[in-house]
Amino acid sequence: MEFAERVRGSLVGGALGDALGWPIEFLRLDRIRELHGEAGLTDLADAGRGGQVTDDTQMTLFTAEGLLRGGRREDLHAAYRRWFQTQRLPGPERFPDGWLAGQEFLYASRAPGNACMTGVVLDCTEAVPFGQDGPVNPNSKGCGTVMRSAPFGLVGLGPDEAFRQAALAAQLTHGHPTGYLAAGAFAALIERVAAGVPLRAAVSSTLARLAAVPDNAETTQALRRAVRVADEGPGSAESVERVGLGWVAEECLAIAVYAALVGADAREALVLAVNHSGDSDSTGAVCGNLVGAMYGLSGLPADWCALVEGREVLLQVADDLVAFAHGDRAALADRYPLPVG
Ligand SMILES: [Mg+2]
Repeated sequence: MEFAERVRGSLVGGALGDALGWPIEFLRLDRIRELHGEAGLTDLADAGRGGQVTDDTQMTLFTAEGLLRGGRREDLHAAYRRWFQTQRLPGPERFPDGWLAGQEFLYASRAPGNACMTGVVLDCTEAVPFGQDGPVNPNSKGCGTVMRSAPFGLVGLGPDEAFRQAALAAQLTHGHPTGYLAAGAFAALIERVAAGVPLRAAVSSTLARLAAVPDNAETTQALRRAVRVADEGPGSAESVERVGLGWVAEECLAIAVYAALVGADAREALVLAVNHSGDSDSTGAVCGNLVGAMYGLSGLPADWCALVEGREVLLQVADDLVAFAHGDRAALADRYPLPVG
């Protein structure tokens, strides 16, 4: 399978999981079953919100934009500031800063994460060495780091740089080591899967990368738990909840890995990833990034792809990431103006 097919799958897949999970983000499992039956919410057409996506997809797009508009940590910070503006303004300004900020659908505010909102308004801070508490929201390890970080693995950085850059950019909003290391692990995992490495082997190599940095225990244990529960039997919502609830970064990553391991295909994995009492849209989004990279765009449910909000923009950004990864950057200058000076 071509790299471009996997990158497209990863961005669109994330949006599918986000859209499927968003209507049940704040519902407990028993309530989801009351509303949608024993199997839970199994079809995006039944979600009732017209395929809407939330902050997870929005921030993922701005992560991609930050990478395409310079790629330094301060460029990521500037991109997250542009995302923040979408959460405050009713729609694009007359002369939006870049092509992405001109996309009307991004201006919806749908339960954005607290640490992301409070973190990005601060100035761009110095990065701290792995294992130390970062200066911004030092106790936060919410999943807002993981859910936005897939593009670091889709832009040709290689697994070590994907890990490093994602974790350092995660420190812009979340200072707890698990918060930013889980984002690094996710980016490295996505990078390997998008390179064609089977998921289990990609998880193993990610665990080895984690072992090389201090304070990795929570993220390592969560990933190991995902694999162990996946090996114990067929997928179920009860098994998902043994892996975690996904409000915190390492559990969000672990649920996505669990669902991707156990699901027979992308649709089954996404349904598993969202039907639980936890943070359904983020676990869905992260799982979608993963299964999209595994199965490619054509391996995603076509009926859901036709429904999901922002599909054309997601595909354009995916192709832009691929062009960038291939060093073909001249055509990107119009959509992604580089920083001056
Ligand atoms: Mg969300």
